[in-house]
Amino acid sequence: MHHMTLAEIARGLADKKFSSEELTQVLLARIAQLDPQLNSFISLTPELALSQAKAADARRANGETGALLGAPIAHKDLFCTLGIRTSCGSKMLDNFKAPYDATVVAKLAAAGAVTLGKTNMDEFAMGSANESSYYGAVKNPWNLEHVPGGSSGGSAAAVAARLLPAATATDTGGSIRQPAAFTNLTGLKPTYGRVSRWGMIAYASSLDQGGPLARTAEDCAILLQGMAGFDPNDSTSIDEPVPDYSAGLNGSLQGLRIGVPKEYFGAGLDPRIADLIHNSIKELEKLGAVIKEISLPNMQHAIPAYYVIAPAEASSNLSRFDGVRFGHRCENPENLIDLYKRSRGEGFGAEVQRRIMVGAYALSAGYYDAYYLKAQKIRRLVKNDFMAAFNEVDIILGPTTPNPAWKLGAKNSDPVAAYLEDVYTITANLAGLPGLSMPAGFVDGLPVGVQLLAPYFQEGRLLNVAHQYQLNTDWHTRTPTGF
Ligand code: GLN
Repeated sequence: MHHMTLAEIARGLADKKFSSEELTQVLLARIAQLDPQLNSFISLTPELALSQAKAADARRANGETGALLGAPIAHKDLFCTLGIRTSCGSKMLDNFKAPYDATVVAKLAAAGAVTLGKTNMDEFAMGSANESSYYGAVKNPWNLEHVPGGSSGGSAAAVAARLLPAATATDTGGSIRQPAAFTNLTGLKPTYGRVSRWGMIAYASSLDQGGPLARTAEDCAILLQGMAGFDPNDSTSIDEPVPDYSAGLNGSLQGLRIGVPKEYFGAGLDPRIADLIHNSIKELEKLGAVIKEISLPNMQHAIPAYYVIAPAEASSNLSRFDGVRFGHRCENPENLIDLYKRSRGEGFGAEVQRRIMVGAYALSAGYYDAYYLKAQKIRRLVKNDFMAAFNEVDIILGPTTPNPAWKLGAKNSDPVAAYLEDVYTITANLAGLPGLSMPAGFVDGLPVGVQLLAPYFQEGRLLNVAHQYQLNTDWHTRTPTGF
């Protein structure tokens, strides 16, 4: 049962082959058995899951239908869940039970999805390896000595290990696409504003976006359908109609213009990954796509710009964790300043503290123009590059990451080495564009992802291309040994 995709589960439930309650029991038992190897969950919610599953079964018995009705999922532990711990992977929020559901959580629950638990993540979503979590590192099911990627590493490891078919995740600089690449999943970062950020604990508000992680593009379409849409509670949510993503999967790729940026194949890219990306280009050509070389000349400036803007926004967002209103509070503070200092010093881990300091520095009066303002100008240039490219092509294709998943601990002593691995993903966040990563093969037994980027609100185009590719390749069906 655990091998089924969301689409297969929906058919099985509709045909009464099994109930959501039965499926939920199977998956909860599987998580109890296998997750100790992976550490992909921070909290399990078996009671909630079983009551949601029973309610979904009752709704189906009453004639209701829907692809998510009775479908088991999990939420990255930065989506607020009413009455359930929402930790953001941090000691700071270890004791925090959210007083409301995030819009994404509420929408998926209303569609009948069953929440099995909250998944592990890098602390405050800062990271690319899921090693900065207060709850310990997550292991990659493809090789337990390697990282699963981050920051949505728990969602990725759990879905890749067939503990559940799909999970929510968020992407500020690659945290959906990069763990998808590292664990052989399909992951979609939507256009900024497509999915509500209300109740999603903020890392960098102008970059953060929630989206689906699943094994197939077909399943990403189903989950995105349940997540997307205008939300008056989020002032950056955009009031655009949500297309029927599943209905759009079967469009022909005949004549589709794919741009391949020449800058993507420079030094730093593992040549074996380059070969796999070229193979996926050939596959898409067979399906009728036309390939064109393009240029994104400002790409090289994107990492430094991102690592000023994201920490700057984080330093502001995380100022709310002061030991006064919620979260960790130190013992016996001597005065208010001592309360702030020790609560924050004890509650935040090293990477979070580093970024708060970098961000506060970049925003400080003497340095604002030199760092923050300059980074914002680069951000505009990166966006302009994409706008020019999309005048010529329909999608942009390249690697998701320059290297496959590294060994646990390999980059812990050198944060900048980890930052450099984000080179292909962060430009989409700076520009607010949608991006998808899908399985493209293996290097040394570790999965490799190919990334597709599209113009604003063209999530459907990404899903269509990925689905057609997956109908003609079988990388996404490969299962890690032991799971
Ligand atoms: N690796 C990037 C960072 O550490 C992106 C993280 C994310 O997308 N949440 O900031």
